[in-house]
Amino acid sequence: MDIIKVPSRIRIGNGYYDLVLDDHIGEDWSHMGIVSHTGRDRRIVLDSHLSNLEKTETLLHEILHIVEITFGLKIKENGLDCVAYTLTQFLEYLGIELDFNKENR
Ligand SMILES: [Zn+2]
Repeated sequence: MDIIKVPSRIRIGNGYYDLVLDDHIGEDWSHMGIVSHTGRDRRIVLDSHLSNLEKTETLLHEILHIVEITFGLKIKENGLDCVAYTLTQFLEYLGIELDFNKENR
């Protein structure tokens, strides 16, 4: 398994997004991740309690939301879930694991 450290700031399209792990966004079970791209506040927030695979899948889901907005697409939530799930499986198949541990970033 190759472990890739996910940086605390990632570039997607023409914007930089801070990647934040949060202890509380998952409390109502409605959000595993949130993306914010208003003005300069560009963040992807992931529920810190998720497993590594769930974090990977959620990060990809949120990145797809950014793609949606950047390119003016409209994709249903479950469509985003399907693509994120498939890409996560592909990374797993390749033996690539993402490391979200803040101390390592
Ligand atoms: Zn979504």
